[in-house]
Amino acid sequence: TWGRVRDVLREEVGQNNYRNWIEPLEFAELEDGVATFLVPTGFIGNWVERNFGDKILRHMLDAGARVSRLVFTVPNVARPKPAEAGSPPANATHVRAEKDDLPGAPLDPRFTFDSFVVGKPNQLAHAAARRVAEGGPVTFNPLFLYGGVGLGKTHLMHAIAHEIQARDPSLRVVYLSAEQFMYRFVQALREKQMMDFKHMFRSVDVLMVDDVQFIAGKDSTQEEFFHTFNALVDQNKQIIISGDRAPGEMKDVEDRIKSRLQSGLVVDLHPTDYELRLGILQTKAARYREQYPDLHIAEGVLEFLAHRISTNVRVLEGALMRLFAFASLVGQEITLEKAQDALSDILRASDRKVTVEEIQRKVAEHFNIRMSDMIGPKRQRSIARPRQMAMYLSKTLTTRSLPDIGRRFGGRDHTTVMHGVRRIEELKQSDTQLAEDLEMLRRALEA
Ligand code: ADP
Ligand code: MG
Repeated sequence: TWGRVRDVLREEVGQNNYRNWIEPLEFAELEDGVATFLVPTGFIGNWVERNFGDKILRHMLDAGARVSRLVFTVPNVARPKPAEAGSPPANATHVRAEKDDLPGAPLDPRFTFDSFVVGKPNQLAHAAARRVAEGGPVTFNPLFLYGGVGLGKTHLMHAIAHEIQARDPSLRVVYLSAEQFMYRFVQALREKQMMDFKHMFRSVDVLMVDDVQFIAGKDSTQEEFFHTFNALVDQNKQIIISGDRAPGEMKDVEDRIKSRLQSGLVVDLHPTDYELRLGILQTKAARYREQYPDLHIAEGVLEFLAHRISTNVRVLEGALMRLFAFASLVGQEITLEKAQDALSDILRASDRKVTVEEIQRKVAEHFNIRMSDMIGPKRQRSIARPRQMAMYLSKTLTTRSLPDIGRRFGGRDHTTVMHGVRRIEELKQSDTQLAEDLEMLRRALEA
């Protein structure tokens, strides 16, 4: 029954809520109309009970369960979670239990500094996050992190929280989204518990509010946020905020709040570049390989993904996960060809729309040959090699199939194209000049 109820809830509450609140629930028993669920922390239990209790009850009844009451309980024997194994100190559960009345959302144990790959686009944000996490004499308060979707804002915030907590478990660190902040605030208003609300938020040592853009246009929430913010800064408490753009660019946010948000350090996460994407893919692939040593992904596939998939790291991760799932299904090495097949929808979505014609023109220009030679029959090396490079670029930068590419190269057979692509793949390993030319052309084409 619970399995079915969960499916219904997933539809109803959305993927995020589902992941954060419903998935952690473990159905224990149903006795005398009381359904008992095990929850990882008291906080999650309380939150679920208040926000989703009615829904869960209703759907359980719909599913035919004779239930009149729900109980959420933290198992008293701490079960080690595999993802956290080794990291929490011996007294972690004790500390956490005392903090269960804090208003924060749970932290993702995977989002640590260790698992964060640093590259040019995020190095400033990373350095600032590290500095704040390590405390010390110079602190930036508030730290404001901003950037587009999937660039690592939430990851860095959780990493800061983990680090601060590891250094000093007694600190009261609260992480939550601006949406959750609003939710708590509205709830406190409704239940006439504003005193508790204020007290709770003003007693934290570190406050992190994610996706602050959510409060835009929500006046009373902004007002309360502003007061909370000021009270904490006055007490010299660290505040860390993230948003989707710089404070000055936010619409429907009061000026006094914008200027408050700007008063510390503002750093942005830039869109990922090729090197960072490749670094992230290699790191994550290495982890998969440790777990599944039998799965193989061919040389060049990660490079292909780093070239072709969008700057959003979440999309990149999704693609990689799919490849490994695919590899485990088919039980063979994932070649470039198979990867393109398995990911065709993602590739289409993030297609930069480079055309075979553009590639031919760029390559012809670069090597100073005629466009007509690109598609013509000449076989001397000075023409055939650039042609093969253009085929290779067409294969890696577009979603065209080999036969399709062959047609665009003057009606050549797909095996000719395949041969050309392979030849370039080989040469690229030993011929540094050729590798550089390719890289330059790729940049020019993607710009
Ligand atoms: P944002 O909050 O900016 O939308 P997230 O922090 O949720 O983005 O990141 C999206 C996903 O990408 C997460 O799974 C995160 O772990 C991963 N990610 C983002 N940047 C990096 C990075 N530099 N190194 C490793 N993983 C990253
Ligand atoms: Mg986020």
